[in-house]
Amino acid sequence: MRLIFLGAPGAGKGTQAERISSVYGIPQISTGNILRAAISAGTSLGQKVKAVMDAGKLVSDEDVIAVVRERLLLDDCKNGFILDGFPRTIPQAEALDKMLLELGLELDKVISIEVNDVAIINRMSGRRSCKKCGATYHIDYKKPVNDGICDYCKEPLVVRDDDKPEVVKGRLEVYYLQTAPLKSYYEKQGKLVCVEGKEALEDTNSEVDKALAE
Ligand code: AMP
Repeated sequence: MRLIFLGAPGAGKGTQAERISSVYGIPQISTGNILRAAISAGTSLGQKVKAVMDAGKLVSDEDVIAVVRERLLLDDCKNGFILDGFPRTIPQAEALDKMLLELGLELDKVISIEVNDVAIINRMSGRRSCKKCGATYHIDYKKPVNDGICDYCKEPLVVRDDDKPEVVKGRLEVYYLQTAPLKSYYEKQGKLVCVEGKEALEDTNSEVDKALAE
């Protein structure tokens, strides 16, 4: 299965991608996590993108397309993958179509998780992330087993710089301007399914499962 999760920052793409990844045994490819790992490792890509990411702006299409191209060639993508946070612009979507064509692969579905702005801002203020593995939690809706500690790698959880309220508003603007047009791009391809992101995680899970079963 080859899937894309679309949605505003904080809509729950990462949470759903992580869940579907473990259910179907296919990798979650989060460009945000890959870029944050590059920053932590101090690679030249990481150094190049840090300020852009901290400001909540988009990394260049060229850089992020190169990251995805390299990632899709890895062995674990053979049986499918879940793209989380890519594509985010029309040129990225076009580049992805070209890559898939070259690889002889087709996307199955593009699931857009719809959540209103007030709920997004509320969710982002409670979001906590693991700096090491990128897993995300919420202080009310998705608590880790041990308070403030990542379930997977036992590292302390932090508020990402770009989840700070002053940056989130700008990220939403970027989403509406550059990413939301992808919905009609994929609708024209007959791949788009929109689901409502609910307040309770279990409810969103079942909406996504329904969309997958369609
Ligand atoms: P995310 O973790 O998906 O919310 O991404 C965090 C940040 O990483 C974004 O605000 C961008 O700065 C950068 N980023 C992640 N994916 C992309 C992408 N597909 N295109 C451009 N920038 C991206």
